[in-house]
Amino acid sequence: MQDKTLQTIIDTFFTCNPEELTEIFNELLSALQTDGVHHPGGLMSRNYETAQANPEIHTLTGNLRDARDAIFPFYWGTDEWYSKLHLENVKGPANYASLVGSLACLLKNPNLCIDTYSQRSNELEVKAITSLANLVFYNTETPWGIFNMGGTISNLYGGKIGIEKVCPGAMSKGLQGETLAGLVSEAAHYSNKTLAGWLGIGTDNLHSIATDSNFAMRIDLLADKLDELYRQEVKVAFVIATFGGTDGFGIDDVAAIRKLIDEKATEYQVPAPQLHIDAAVGWILCVLNEYDLKENSFGVDDEVLPIIGKIQQHAKALKYADSITVDFHKMGWGHYPASAFIVNRREDLRYLLRTLDQVPYFSEAEYRHDPALFTLECSRPAIGPYSVMASLNGIGLRGYQVLLANSLEMAAFTKKEIDKLDYCKVLNTDTTGATVLWWVLPKGRNAEEIYSKLERGELSLEEQGQYFHEIKHLFDKRSADLNPKIDARLSFTTSIGYSPHGINIPAWKAVFFNPKTDRPVVEQVIRSIEDL
Ligand SMILES: *Cc1c(COP(=O)(O)O)cnc(C)c1O
Repeated sequence: MQDKTLQTIIDTFFTCNPEELTEIFNELLSALQTDGVHHPGGLMSRNYETAQANPEIHTLTGNLRDARDAIFPFYWGTDEWYSKLHLENVKGPANYASLVGSLACLLKNPNLCIDTYSQRSNELEVKAITSLANLVFYNTETPWGIFNMGGTISNLYGGKIGIEKVCPGAMSKGLQGETLAGLVSEAAHYSNKTLAGWLGIGTDNLHSIATDSNFAMRIDLLADKLDELYRQEVKVAFVIATFGGTDGFGIDDVAAIRKLIDEKATEYQVPAPQLHIDAAVGWILCVLNEYDLKENSFGVDDEVLPIIGKIQQHAKALKYADSITVDFHKMGWGHYPASAFIVNRREDLRYLLRTLDQVPYFSEAEYRHDPALFTLECSRPAIGPYSVMASLNGIGLRGYQVLLANSLEMAAFTKKEIDKLDYCKVLNTDTTGATVLWWVLPKGRNAEEIYSKLERGELSLEEQGQYFHEIKHLFDKRSADLNPKIDARLSFTTSIGYSPHGINIPAWKAVFFNPKTDRPVVEQVIRSIEDL
């Protein structure tokens, strides 16, 4: 070939030029440092109209600044959620130790599918998984696991092992006309429906067990459901317990579920279902496992100490689980994607193993070094392990304890302030997370009384419609009138995950994720409610 282009490409795009890269990186960083100049969410309006009509690409070979220019408006137009006024959900800001880790990962670009494509990065994954496993299972002998792109997929792994346990050979033979079922609570994340559909069980065979007023699965109803399904000779593949629900932060009683599913399995002489824990958000509670409540070395608010006591009780039961989902990109303040699927006992991975003849590229593979032998993915990014180990060692266990304790204090403070208003009611008073759900009704209404009428089943359909309309209307009114410089962004859920008498209860929602969110932000939220 005569063309000089190849050499230009090699020099420009495949040869590291640190000056040029740091210059561009500095430009991107300075665009990021506009704290306070822009309010959350409002950086730039979207232009979906021509996104598809005009996807032009350059014809001639350019340089790294062309790469920068191609993405810059979209980078600029994306909110990194560093503002302390973002309270909508368990989303951003990611911490900068995680950035250091993630960038290091991108520079080497390992592929975690097998050891030969990732070398020590694979070793780092083993370290990251083991560190997280020790946190969540506390005393575990043979944990193993992998990182993947999200809690949905981690839950899917748990479901898949369950299917193989109760329907051996499903991986090769399929379900062969058998009816399989999975069980979750009413407060479970919708990703469980996704996996039931994708794994071929069918979303209709994912049964939701009603929760109690603390958003925890009712064990009596779980027992009834197991009896009903086993009598119909349905194979129950898994129970996915929620450990920290996305809205109400409900925590299922893992120890009671373990005991019940084992008893029922013995009674009906069937293999016990997989007990998978969806701790996508709630795993972070485990950092407080060893916090000494008497000593209280951080001086955590008195009213938060009993919450930490409850957290320590909940967390102890995780050791009864077979497997767990940990989203580090949520309350680890890490970068996407960093979800870990972890089994308590390594041998459970045998249900997912491929034989070497199914993976011809990896003829020398061994599952401890070569996760491709059991993973859903083939190519797999290493951002997760890099983000986790950089963050855990940068911020440190004590640092994570402080971060979580702060979130808990902010949630408790918010609950206390909201409950001072008669026309408002906190709906998750006794849950132990960083989320607050509440009602705002027009002034003059007694929210507490209306809620207890609802729970007792004494609210007429008309009353219910009227109140729910008011709650949504006031939320919309606040959103419309919101001063983006001072008013926090909240979110709205149409169903909190506790449905007495089958009623889907709507609520306002705030999540204390950002460590910068302080009491004045909450006080302003309260003022904005009073001004409605
Ligand atoms: C976010 C979430 C999921 C889904 O995780 P992704 O990482 O978003 O795929 C599953 N379960 C719970 C409880 C969650 O909060």
